[in-house]
Amino acid sequence: MQIYLDAEKCQGHNRCYALAPELFDVDDYGQAVLILDGDVPAELRDKARLAASNCPEYAITITQES
Ligand code: SF4
Repeated sequence: MQIYLDAEKCQGHNRCYALAPELFDVDDYGQAVLILDGDVPAELRDKARLAASNCPEYAITITQES
C-alpha cells in the first residue's frame, strides 16, 4: 500500500495526525506531512485508510490497495 499526501489540498485540520500519528506529523505551518516515504507497513494500513477517509479535503490518497 502506498499513501500520498497532496500538500496543496491540505488545510491543516490535523485530523490525520490525531488519527494516525505513526503516519503523519504537522509542520511549522500547521500542515500535515507524511512521516513515511509512502510505503505503508501492514500494521498501519487500517490507520492509513482511516486517515484517508477522514480527511475533509480529500488530500490523502491510497494506492496499490491489497
Ligand atoms: S486531515 Fe487532511 S486536510 Fe487535515 S491536516 Fe490531514 S491531510 Fe491536511
